[in-house]
Amino acid sequence: MLGLLVQAGYSVDANEELADYVIVNTCSFIGDARKESVRTLVELAEADKKIIISGCLAQHFQEQLLEEIPEAVAVVGTGDYQKIVEIVEKVEQGERVKAISAEPTYIADEHTPRYRTTTEGVAYLRVAEGCDYRCAFCIIPHLRGNQRSRPIESIVAEARQLAAQGVKEIILISQITTNYGLDLYGEPKLDELLRALGQVDVPWIRIHYAYPTGLTPKVIKAIQETPNVLPYLDLPLQHSHSEILKAMNRPWQGQVNDVIIEKIQNAIPNAILRTTFIVGFPGETSEHFNHLLSFVQRHEFDHVGVFTFSPEEETPAYKMPHQVPAKVMDERRNLLMQTQQPISAKKNQASIGKTVEVLIEQENPETGELIGRSARFAPEVDGLVYVKGEAPLGVIVPVTITAADVYDLYGEVV
Ligand code: SF4
Repeated sequence: MLGLLVQAGYSVDANEELADYVIVNTCSFIGDARKESVRTLVELAEADKKIIISGCLAQHFQEQLLEEIPEAVAVVGTGDYQKIVEIVEKVEQGERVKAISAEPTYIADEHTPRYRTTTEGVAYLRVAEGCDYRCAFCIIPHLRGNQRSRPIESIVAEARQLAAQGVKEIILISQITTNYGLDLYGEPKLDELLRALGQVDVPWIRIHYAYPTGLTPKVIKAIQETPNVLPYLDLPLQHSHSEILKAMNRPWQGQVNDVIIEKIQNAIPNAILRTTFIVGFPGETSEHFNHLLSFVQRHEFDHVGVFTFSPEEETPAYKMPHQVPAKVMDERRNLLMQTQQPISAKKNQASIGKTVEVLIEQENPETGELIGRSARFAPEVDGLVYVKGEAPLGVIVPVTITAADVYDLYGEVV
């Protein structure tokens, strides 16, 4: 949206006080995200701003938002971002616009102008949008539609543009990146995509959301044989117990077990494994939860994120019996996090004394301290590397790690 608006001659600013229109691109995935979106909208409405609400919350609650927020001048659905210029033009003529496609089908391509808001060296690259699965807790397919992948050539062309702009890390995103290409080519083509991206002059390519069963021998080989693809795997496992995975209606539910995790660990011994779990899914007993605890202890993932179950209307899990009380969910979340902390700390400590590549992203203006990330850490979800010494922003430099805590590393430029 920003890219299209800039191309059409509008100026863009992160400071809403300077703006005639504030676009709030919202999330509506779980209760907490929705609350944050609504809080932002209320604050802006109180400041008397003209608000354009886009994204999942708009897709979900279109009428309600227009009714309850008089300051909302437009709602833009998840398949309608490409109409933003036309929407702003209509709004300027005094119209109140509702642009929501019932079945979102749009996906940007390499010709869509971009205006990046990430740090200089990093760019997200969407390879597919939507999801064909129907997990019992998840509202994403309802909000984003079925999977639609971009052709390999389109993704590579955009990656080349980003590389030419000096981007050092490209993060491939979609709902399940291991399913990339299935809708377009009749079979997943992540291996071919990775090999094609291996030809692009960008040092780090990170894959987000790899389903373990999608890590086929072909994909594992492509990761191993493509030097710029980081051996970083973000596996959204959600649970370990087969009964809960079945109740969650997870794809390939019976196959998330020790065998598959060990297979991945053996195939890519240097893999950095991140995963996320949901605790307190309806029907989760202490036995199910203990199964998850020992699974986490056994496999020693590098990074673990834990969510408490969030009941979403319009999903089957919303009405399932045996909902777990919030207090129990919180206790389980805390216990799982506490179990993981010494493991994460141990993994981080293993970096002490090593020299690793760090992408420098920020500089503390007061202390001059640099902040970046090593390949172990994905932006926003994992830790940071605090670096002493001098290095330009947006560049990968060698850093010797001198200290570590649970989440972050500390080091000096070599
Ligand atoms: S795989 Fe399941 S959790 Fe992930 S986006 Fe699809 S429906 Fe949602």
